[in-house]
Amino acid sequence: MGIPHGQAQTSKSEDHVSYLLRTTEPRPPVTWKNLATELQWVNVVALTAIPVLGIVGACHTKLRWETGLFAVFFYYVTGLGITAGYHRYWSHRSYKASTALQWFLALAGAGAAQGSIKWWSRGHRAHHRYTDTKFDPYNAAEGFWHTHIGWIVLKPRIKQGSVDISDLASNFIVEWQHKHLNVLIVLVSFVFPTIVSWLGWGDARGGLVYAGLLRQTFLHHSIFCLNSLAHWLGESPFDDKHSPRDHFITALVTLGEGYHNFHHQFPMDYQNGRRWYQYDPTKWFIWGCGQLGLASHLKVFPENEVRKGQLTMQLKRLRETQDNLVWPVDKTDLPVINWEAYQSQAAECPMILISGFIHDVSDFIEEHPGGARFITKFIGKDATAAFFGGVYEHSNAAHNLLSMKRVGVLHGGVPHILDEKNVPPSQRLRITRFNEPACRSDSFDEAEN
Ligand SMILES: [Zn+2]
Ligand SMILES: [Zn+2]
Repeated sequence: MGIPHGQAQTSKSEDHVSYLLRTTEPRPPVTWKNLATELQWVNVVALTAIPVLGIVGACHTKLRWETGLFAVFFYYVTGLGITAGYHRYWSHRSYKASTALQWFLALAGAGAAQGSIKWWSRGHRAHHRYTDTKFDPYNAAEGFWHTHIGWIVLKPRIKQGSVDISDLASNFIVEWQHKHLNVLIVLVSFVFPTIVSWLGWGDARGGLVYAGLLRQTFLHHSIFCLNSLAHWLGESPFDDKHSPRDHFITALVTLGEGYHNFHHQFPMDYQNGRRWYQYDPTKWFIWGCGQLGLASHLKVFPENEVRKGQLTMQLKRLRETQDNLVWPVDKTDLPVINWEAYQSQAAECPMILISGFIHDVSDFIEEHPGGARFITKFIGKDATAAFFGGVYEHSNAAHNLLSMKRVGVLHGGVPHILDEKNVPPSQRLRITRFNEPACRSDSFDEAEN
């Protein structure tokens, strides 16, 4: 059995992407001088001519409501060819499709004029495997325009990362579509809507302009947003390691592919918008096909694992909040003094002992809500019992504020850190990393023993 290419030569300390970067020769950077030879002219002409002809045609062709309605309907049909077909079925295998559904998706996808299933899925698998690296064909690190259209009109600067597409190569429909793609694009994208509008309501020209050329223009940029907008606009509720984002607007323009942060975490899930209210017509279409017996084995990632991803991000944000607050000086960083020293220092500066901690209350005497007398009478004394209900049951905020006034520890006076009274309420539940002690004072106590 052979070792997969690339892994054999990779040293243990070097990851796969670094190895590829070291061993792959990129094409020279694009300049004005070499632009003509670096452009993919077929794509440039197609992406310019289709919108120009569409706009010019629209200026000279009245829009009939039947044609307009059909154009929108056909936009969804051909769009689903990409989202439900190329993307969720062939690239990610997120469900099983019957032969009839596969034919429908292959033809509809051809009508989106975005390359063949084989070419598209190969690039998309590389996009998932090498996200945000040079081997991702639409690497978000190279900016919005590169991911939107730059990668299509310019020759790739570096060969995209390797992926396994053996399952696609053995699929007859995929191979057939790849072989006849150019004819299929012309037939499905332009001839078909022209004929439907002509036979249906006698508007061949409108069919070509609105349901052919303009629909194609909108669909191109709509699907391009799956690579650009979806890696640029919105939130990262599941993982912020890479660029994919979740946003309703992206979902709106990409037939539901806008929950892209979720998708990159759980790419084999047939849904992009997991919640019922999230706009994802593609998942509704696949679900509907399932109800009709055209699709089966719709994959859904376990809710428990999805929630773990969400919790991780929530904890991360809470940790940032925690780190941006000022906390009491830790027990281990405070000077330890005996009773006599406490007495002599309290005689010079108002200090109060509570729970073994010595607190400097000089700036608080006048601010004490219960009156200055309840502080001054405890100066140089142990006010633990009074603070915790003997005189008044203080609030959490009072306890938190008190801990900020710690200036020392009475020798042998601090009870064990696990005593709740000893820990300010704001520090009883804290976020700690796996390699940090839950509380610094814990290690201090261990060291003492
Ligand atoms: Zn992506
Ligand atoms: Zn994907």
